[in-house]
Amino acid sequence: MIVVVGSVNLDLVASVERLPQPGETVSAGDFKTVHGGKGANQAVAASRLGGDVAIVAAVGGDGESRMLLERLAAEGVNTASVQRLDGLTSGVALITVDARGENTIAVHSGANGHLRLTDESRTLIERADIVLLQLEIPIGTVIEAASISSGIVILHAAPARTLPAELTEQLEILIVNEHERMVAVEPQGETVEPIVITTLGAEGAAVTTPRGVAVVAAPEVEVVDTTGAGDTFCGAFAEALDRGEDTVDAVAWATHAGALATTAMGARTAMPTRADMQREMRKHE
Ligand code: ADP
Repeated sequence: MIVVVGSVNLDLVASVERLPQPGETVSAGDFKTVHGGKGANQAVAASRLGGDVAIVAAVGGDGESRMLLERLAAEGVNTASVQRLDGLTSGVALITVDARGENTIAVHSGANGHLRLTDESRTLIERADIVLLQLEIPIGTVIEAASISSGIVILHAAPARTLPAELTEQLEILIVNEHERMVAVEPQGETVEPIVITTLGAEGAAVTTPRGVAVVAAPEVEVVDTTGAGDTFCGAFAEALDRGEDTVDAVAWATHAGALATTAMGARTAMPTRADMQREMRKHE
């Protein structure tokens, strides 16, 4: 079983011709609300591929928050350990996107910023084969989840920040893009314990172990929107490890899943199902 300990967000996305300057109002041609949050997205990615997934998270007590949870449950994610915090809203991302795809994003962590482990969620984490973490919740909660796990602990170190040694010590696997890698790993000035997987966008991903570096190419796809590619990569990687694949095979699976996720607008729209992936993998046999 995979347990994700992470964020659940509501994304409010306005499409504008050009981004507003400070003090300026521009009219938005299109507006939509999208369910997101790195934790929720990664849980959905693993579940669509057939993984047995539960999420430990915190959402607000309002109606929007209930809908966020209902959608996660409809995706097959076990939400029994999600805390509803009355008087708070769920995490919100206010996003404006211009005609060239440039964006501005303001994130309010909301209930995510109040996620603490309970006895119930600790028991779930202790039973997990894989614990999948990101950095959109309090760092103390991330460290506690990593330290009580007896399974494989994976951290996607996003958004980028320097990682305390008491966290890296607890990890089996660290997933970063090139920017996050610079911030998370380099300042420590020494090689870190865990296996480091660096995602390289269209180039695929590199796996660094004490034995060396292996680069796994991503398939060529028609890219529409790369939002959610990293989250799909992480969810798919966890799902493959949970099935017993070795690290490099799981990275190959994850690079294909990440690539497919870029072929439609929105983080979850093109997140592949197991059938989508089987079709994709047959193309490369
Ligand atoms: P992040 O969005 O976290 O920066 P990346 O951009 O490295 O992460 O993307 C994660 C994974 O998604 C990559 O390892 C790759 O498998 C896939 N991917 C992303 N962009 C592309 C692309 N342009 N073409 C093919 N695959 C892609």
